[in-house]
Amino acid sequence: MRVTRLFLFGTNFKMNQTAPESAAFFGTLAAAVTPSSEVILFVIPPFTSLPAVVARREATRSEICIGAQNMHWAADGAYTGEISAQMLTAIGVDFVLLGHAERRGLFHETDDALAKKVPAAIDAGLRVLLCVGETADEKRTGAGPETVARQLKIALHAIEPASLSRIQIAYEPVWSIGKDGTPATPDDIAPVATHLRHTLTDRFGDGGADVPILYGGSVDPKNAGTFVQVPEIDGLFVGRAAWSVDGYRNVLAAALNARGLAMDSTTDN
Ligand code: PEP
Repeated sequence: MRVTRLFLFGTNFKMNQTAPESAAFFGTLAAAVTPSSEVILFVIPPFTSLPAVVARREATRSEICIGAQNMHWAADGAYTGEISAQMLTAIGVDFVLLGHAERRGLFHETDDALAKKVPAAIDAGLRVLLCVGETADEKRTGAGPETVARQLKIALHAIEPASLSRIQIAYEPVWSIGKDGTPATPDDIAPVATHLRHTLTDRFGDGGADVPILYGGSVDPKNAGTFVQVPEIDGLFVGRAAWSVDGYRNVLAAALNARGLAMDSTTDN
């Protein structure tokens, strides 16, 4: 069966940008790039920027998707400092990023917590961008593919095939992300992406073939085209290189060019 999946591209601002800065970024981005029937674009600002970015999306009538960087699994309760899926949908957020390597590594987010967060997000009407990735040690010992498969299986344990259209996966090797990361090669990521695909189809049957798998980790305009030609990779999840509108646009253009996809654009700077 030949599956044609959409192409996805976007960035996570991490703990950068005030609300006015994020809104300005979104406004400029919305004027520079336009999602198409084949290309889904997204940004993931900090929590405090979300209302301003949603408002700017309404003002610009852009179809760029807006995600949050995390959420709690409970709808409400005594969880000081946490944000629920219901709070995110109430302000017009489309999806939530879950399981980013920084949350797993720095904030001790566990696979078991993700197994509760993913269904909570789906039940509340959000889409989920679930990050998986192996550490340098897991790669060195050959445990990379089984590490990401384990993360995937646990996080999606309670997900029914009917909800699968709301799930997207970001494969982000921990050793490759951020300023201390080592850029991966297509040869590094191809076997892991294939293993992820097999894990999805083993678990969900044909529906697993439709789940987009994005690649993320030290992606820039020079290497973006190589990653999007890896079988099973359906898009890019970019950090530093897309934190300016020009950067976002340049990485996107390189990726789309390599995939033979057109970028709708309303400016030509
Ligand atoms: C990330 O941290 O998720 C990421 C992809 O970062 P970068 O592109 O900066 O390596």
